[in-house]
Formats: sequence, C-alpha cells, structure tokens
Amino acid sequence: MPLPEWVPIREDLRGYEPYGAPQLPDLISLNVNENPYAPSEAVADDIAAAVRAAALGLNRYPDREATELRERLAQYLGHDLTGDHVWAANGSNEVMLQILQAFGGPGRTAVSFAPTYSMYPEYARDTHTRWVAGRRADDFTVDPQAAVELIKAEQPDVVLLTSPNNPTGTALPLATVEAVLDVAPGVVVVDEAYAEFRRAGTPTALELLDTHPRLLVTRTMSKAFALAGGRVGYVAADPAVIDALRIVRLPYHLSAVTQAAATAALAHADELLAQVDALREARDELAAWLAGRGYDVAESDANFVLFGRFADRHAVWQGLVDRGVLIRETGPEGWLRVSVGTPEEMDAFYTALMEVDPR
Ligand code: PMP
Repeated sequence: MPLPEWVPIREDLRGYEPYGAPQLPDLISLNVNENPYAPSEAVADDIAAAVRAAALGLNRYPDREATELRERLAQYLGHDLTGDHVWAANGSNEVMLQILQAFGGPGRTAVSFAPTYSMYPEYARDTHTRWVAGRRADDFTVDPQAAVELIKAEQPDVVLLTSPNNPTGTALPLATVEAVLDVAPGVVVVDEAYAEFRRAGTPTALELLDTHPRLLVTRTMSKAFALAGGRVGYVAADPAVIDALRIVRLPYHLSAVTQAAATAALAHADELLAQVDALREARDELAAWLAGRGYDVAESDANFVLFGRFADRHAVWQGLVDRGVLIRETGPEGWLRVSVGTPEEMDAFYTALMEVDPR
C-alpha cells in the first residue's frame, strides 16, 4: 500500500515498500536461509537462565560496549582476534547500516556486484550514499579485473563483497578480495553471513585482516548458529575501524537480554553448529538433484541453492506455495532460491517441485 500523500516522508523514500520476504508460518519455510534445526532444550534452558539473570538487572542500561559478548565472538572467530577487533549489533543488517553510516553518507559512494543481497541498496538509500552496482559474470563470480576497473573509476568509499554471495551462493577467492583491497581507496567489507557453510578449501577473508587495516569481515549468528530470532550480527576489523563504528551506534543499541542470550548461546557453539556438516551435505545433494533434473544450478558455498531457469518463475513459486512449500522468488529473472531444510522438508520440496514442473 503506498503511503497517503499527506505523510511528509522524505521524497526519495516515497513509493517504497518495507523490505521483507513473505512470512507464512504454516508453510515449510525454505525462503530466508535459516537453520532448520532449533536450539535444543538444554541450550534453551541455558539461554533462559542467562536471560533471567539479566532480567534482575533490567532497571539498568546494558553494557554499552557489549564487552563479554565481543570477547566471546572474537574467541569463536580465532585468528588471534580480541574483543577490540569485534563489534556486535542487532543482526548483521544493523552492522551493515552502521558501516554505511560511518563510512558512506552524502557525497560518498558504495560499490557492490549484482546480483547480490537486496538490502545493500536500501542501506545506501537510507544513508544517502551513492549506490553503484557492478555486474557479476554469467556464472555469478566476480571478475577481479572488471572489479578493479570499476573501483578505479568510481573511487568508492565502501566496497561490499559478499562471500558466499546471496542469492547465488558464490564464494570469492581471496585473490579477488586482495585485488579489490589493493585499489579500493576506502573500506572493503566482506559479508560472510554464510561462511560456516562454505565447502572445504574455500577460505575466509578473516585471514587477510592482520595485513589489511581497511578490511571489515561481517558475520552473523542468524544462519549457521541457529539464532536468527536472537538478532545478533558482528564484524571483525582493526580496532580503529571498530572505534569508527562506535561513533555512529545508538547508545545501548544491544539490549541486555540480547547480550545475555547470545553469550549463553556462544557457550554452546559446538552444539549449535553441529548440524552445519549435515546441512552442507544436504546442500550438495540438493544441487545434484536439481542438476540431475536438468536445471541450471549456481555453485553454492552457502545453505541455499539458486536454480532455474523458468519462463514464469512466479508460477513455479506459487505452485510450490500451493503445495505448502515456501521458497524465495529472488535473484536474476528466471531463477528461484531454495534454502536447505531438514530431510523431511527437502523431500516435501522435491515432491512439490516434481508436481509443479514435471520434466
Ligand atoms: N548478509 C547477507 C548476505 C544475508 O543474506 C543476510 C540475511 N539474509 C544478512 C546479511 C543479514 O542477516 P542478519 O541481520 O540476520 O544477521
């Protein structure tokens, strides 16, 4: 619904809809790349106990610096990182907005490579940052030479690289990240929301942090960690870059409840991440099954697969919805994205797709 004329919203925001995938809780949800395995009763008990302890202090503001949580996140990341190298916020969405607030802004430019995460242009819009989208190659990789040329031409203050990329699943070789770092005049952000799902041999940009002070690597507890509802994302970077983000954050942005829940969850990292191997296997099976049925399938290092191509992808998406399976109509025209679910959920998807699109 468009806003009524009398609402005095910023002119450049007029006509936009709030972003978000449909939320249809009765359907099998393979549309927002969540971990289908909920935390166990034991983990839930520990989270509840930590939240209860925090509740007894809720008359006070939380630790503005989220000190303990940041230290735990640094320990989880390894690579000799400390709490000073890490910043946390309400999902990596908020982290990314803070990055654009601190390093983008009026008169500044952000560059990314499409197709990619559809929220980036919105962070740019909301922070009045000029948005420039380069193109990925037909196989959804980023051509380092083309990236370098675009960055030399645009001189962006922020480069957003996504690895593995959403919605294509494509991971970037470190050589591409390094080529970008060599020419980018501003910060380079590698969004690694799906890093834990990457295939053996696919590197993480965390390896480049100690030699590249303008590199930021963002992560989230929403995906592999099975904590999407907890809303915790984070970034690793040079402590001076983290200090820049602290300038734009709202005071007390991360509630005591969130900090307690996330810290308790991190103590169970091994258990929460235990299903990641199974999900990676299921992802490879899913890709092979789709390819076996003759679809084009994008190579994926994430917990979802982009496949196509359909003359009328909306009809296929709707046909699946009608059969109780919700996937995502996103990415380039003709393609659809499906997240990896439990074996039962995958069976339901396979059955429904064979009905909707018998080949
Ligand atoms: N980055 C990418 C590439 C994503 O796909 C998502 C979630 N869909 C996010 C960031 C944001 O996730 P969250 O805010 O839950 O951490």
